[in-house]
Amino acid sequence: MPRRRRLRRIVSPPGFKGYRPYGSAGDVSGSVELLYEEYEALKLADYNHLNHFEASKHMGVSRATFARIYESARRKIAQALVESKEIRTVYGNAFLDKDWYVCNDCYVRFTLPHRNRNRHCPMCKSEKLELVNRKNI
Ligand SMILES: [Zn+2]
Repeated sequence: MPRRRRLRRIVSPPGFKGYRPYGSAGDVSGSVELLYEEYEALKLADYNHLNHFEASKHMGVSRATFARIYESARRKIAQALVESKEIRTVYGNAFLDKDWYVCNDCYVRFTLPHRNRNRHCPMCKSEKLELVNRKNI
């Protein structure tokens, strides 16, 4: 029996849906999918400057698993840069501590208390919100 994948805890989702190259000689040729946990691994190691052991604790995974996620993230980013591909963020095996929403009008991402019935965007007051967290985990 294959082992069920353990979820990787991330503090906040990426603040964007993707990146697209501009000014390249050829057309943008396809995309790579960067998982939320890969984004988190890059952020913890290369932006927050945590060592792999500290970063693995933050994400609730072993150091070896963290190293695999991090390596995968770097390869995807390198491929996107070299081959002029879009980077699209996808949920993957992430686990978010809070409910995160994205506003479909102004694209801001934010959290709301679970029992907040009057849901609207804190920036533009739009009610076109989308839950970022994957359902049915
Ligand atoms: Zn908004």
